[in-house]
Amino acid sequence: MDAVAERYVKLVLAVGQHDADYVDAYYGPAEWRKETETGKRTLDEISTEASTLRTKIAALAPGNEEIERLRHEYLERQLSSLLARTRMLRGERLSFDEESKALYDAVAPTHPESHFEQILARLEKRFPGEGPLVTRYDAWRRPFVIAKEKLDSVFQTAIEACRERTSVHLALPSEESFKVEYVTNKSWSGYNWYQGRYRSLIQVNTDLPVYIDRAIDLACHEGYPGHHVYNVLLEKHLVRDRGWVEFSVYPLFSPQSLIAEGTANYGIEVAFPGEQRVAFERSVLFPAAGLDPARAAEYYEVIELLEELSYAGNEAARRYLNGQIDATAAAQWLERYALMPPDRAKQRVRFFDQYRSYVINYNLGKDMVRRYIESRGGTADNPGTRWQEFEGLLSSPRLPSGLGQ
Ligand SMILES: [Zn+2]
Repeated sequence: MDAVAERYVKLVLAVGQHDADYVDAYYGPAEWRKETETGKRTLDEISTEASTLRTKIAALAPGNEEIERLRHEYLERQLSSLLARTRMLRGERLSFDEESKALYDAVAPTHPESHFEQILARLEKRFPGEGPLVTRYDAWRRPFVIAKEKLDSVFQTAIEACRERTSVHLALPSEESFKVEYVTNKSWSGYNWYQGRYRSLIQVNTDLPVYIDRAIDLACHEGYPGHHVYNVLLEKHLVRDRGWVEFSVYPLFSPQSLIAEGTANYGIEVAFPGEQRVAFERSVLFPAAGLDPARAAEYYEVIELLEELSYAGNEAARRYLNGQIDATAAAQWLERYALMPPDRAKQRVRFFDQYRSYVINYNLGKDMVRRYIESRGGTADNPGTRWQEFEGLLSSPRLPSGLGQ
């Protein structure tokens, strides 16, 4: 298995030579990277090697422990996903759902316009008036922007609070840490670049106004208990303790991303359940950002309603990537059904161009992770079990299809 794992890592690095976004993190031996750079393999050679490895894995006995069985299934599935990405790089076109199944081991539900219209009707009542609802909503939201000069101190406060809450429940290596950088001209709003040795670089995009809810969301999602913690725990439990080298590489377009994004999003409510979030925002973050704390509860009531529109983003992406609508219509759909202001909608369409069906990993991923953890007793009124199940999921190679429905 270890020999196959090594060849798998080199194969992921080889795909990275054809696809700049593919290798999200790599902290294995530096000479393996050099080797793939000097001896660049063609997509044909990559496909042949991936098929060979899949056959080899199928012939190997998985071992008795559950985690060994998960490792076996995981490697097999990651290779299938790599084969699909290779086919895409050679020009094969898959439908949105075929692509998400092949790359992320999951298919997002479809929703008709009427589903979102019901939610929008509730928001219409909340923001009565003339003109498009998105304009009224956007005007209401303006006072909740974090001023540029306060951004870093508000983020640092949020990160500290997320780290504190996480470290009460999870054992993190004492050397872990990350750095925050502010960047522009990106299709995403935040990104965690895991660097190995328990370190991450987190980038926050400041192209568009940053609203107060992004402080906790990004601190949890990118940091604690999200991506940074996920990568730290994989490095600790799988790469260092077990010597499973395949986890030292993270192919972005793979089933691992559904678990990564799903846990990062679900982790927000694990760290800050319901009322605790609003209480913390009111007493700490709103004052730190110079916002009116008396409006914290009102703000989060609306944000919660907006969450219900998140699947509208998947619909826009599905129609756009299936060629049913063009970029302008996709942006209009996002404005109308996901209530994104025009500049944000355009940024999101750029995200669709770059990352395609990856969008399902955020909301479907979160819902799948929640159902999995709750089905194992990790409900909101059982925070101890919820943290324990969450940690278990972050420390093991479980596939999206293995989360159960
Ligand atoms: Zn993420």
